[in-house]
Amino acid sequence: MKIKSVEAIAICIDADPDSPSLMARGGSAQLSPVDALRMRNFARHQTCLVRIETDTGAVGWGEGQEATAPRVIRTIIEDICAPMVIGRNPFDIEAIWADQYQFLREAGHLTGFYIDALAGIDLALYDLIGNLTDQPVHRLLGGRMRDRLKAYAGIGGGDPDATAEMAADHVTDGFRALKLHISRQSNDRCVEIVRAVRARVGEDVELMVDVHIGKDVSEAIKLGRRLEDLNVQWLESPTAPEDPYGSADIARALDLQIASGEWLRTAWQWREFLEAHALDVAMPDISRSGLTESKRIAQLCDTYNIPVTPHVGRGGTMALAASIQFGATVPNFQIIEHMHRVHEQRSKICTVYPSPVDGEFLVTDTPGMGVTIDEDAVRGYAI
Ligand SMILES: [Mg+2]
Repeated sequence: MKIKSVEAIAICIDADPDSPSLMARGGSAQLSPVDALRMRNFARHQTCLVRIETDTGAVGWGEGQEATAPRVIRTIIEDICAPMVIGRNPFDIEAIWADQYQFLREAGHLTGFYIDALAGIDLALYDLIGNLTDQPVHRLLGGRMRDRLKAYAGIGGGDPDATAEMAADHVTDGFRALKLHISRQSNDRCVEIVRAVRARVGEDVELMVDVHIGKDVSEAIKLGRRLEDLNVQWLESPTAPEDPYGSADIARALDLQIASGEWLRTAWQWREFLEAHALDVAMPDISRSGLTESKRIAQLCDTYNIPVTPHVGRGGTMALAASIQFGATVPNFQIIEHMHRVHEQRSKICTVYPSPVDGEFLVTDTPGMGVTIDEDAVRGYAI
C-alpha cells in the first residue's frame, strides 16, 4: 500500500452575523490596522486541512493550523512535503515526519509554518491509519489512559460585566473551568475582570487567565500574586516567548501554575524551557506540532514532572479531535482547551465530530480522529 495523493486545502468560514462573539467587547472605536486584522481573525475561521489517500482508496484528514495565512501551509505542502510523502507506506509515520524535518533543517526551518505543515500531514496519516485499522487514534499512540477529558472554555474581553455574563453562560452550558483571555490590560483592570467573573460563577469554577505574552517579569509576578488571592489556577503566557529565564523567575516567585508554550513546536524547543524550569504546565498545540512530535514532547515533559494541556486556540475541528486523541493517551494530561462559542462555526466542515458533554469530552472507540469530514463542505469553504 502506498500514498497516492496529498492535498492541502486552505479554508475560510465566516462567522454567522447573528452568532455570539467569542470576545466580549464594548465600544466601536476606530480600529488600527493591526487591531482590524486581529478582529478579522476572530470573526473568521481559517486553517489548512490536509487530505491523504492511498492507492487502496483509504483516506485520512489532518489540519495544519494557521489562522491568518493558511495558504502558506498549502504552498509548503504542495511544493515541499507532498513530493516526499507520495509513494510512501502510510504506516511509516515517524519516518515520514523525520525525513521532512531533516530536509529543511540545514536551512533553518526548524519551527513556524514549516512544522505546521508537517503537523497537518502527520494528523492526516494518523486518521488514515485509524480508519484503515478500525481503531481510534489514541489506540495507535499507546492506548487509552482515561475515558473523559475535562475541558475548559475560553472566553475573553476587556469588560468585567460582559465577561462575567459570558462566564455565567458557559457555566450554564456545563463548563466547570474557564479561561479568561485578558490581553493588553493593566494589572488593575485584569484583577477587576477576574474579580467580576469570580463573584458571578462562585468558588467552585476553575479559572485560568491568559495575558498573551503581555507582561514584563516584574508586572507578571505582581499580577500573579493578586490572581492567587482570587484562586486562579494558572497564569498563561505571562511574558516574552523568547525568554525562558524570565518565565522561570515568574514561575519561581508564584504558587499558581505558569502555563506556557503554545508557540513551541518541537521537543528541541521545549527542552530549553523545561531545563530552565520556565513553566508548570506545558501547552503543546497538536495542529502546530503534530501527534508524533507532541507525544515526544509529552514524554519529555513527564520526565520533568510537568503536566500537559493541549492548546487548541484557533485550531479547527480536526485540531480539536487530534487534541482529544492526544489527551486520551498521555499519562500527564491536565485539562483540554475548547472554544465553545465558535465550535459550530468551525465544525461546518464535518457531519460527525466531538462535542463536550457537561464540560467534558468523552473518549470513544470511533475510528481515526472520530470526525466524519463533509468533503463538499470543505471544498465550498476553500480559498
Ligand atoms: Mg494562550
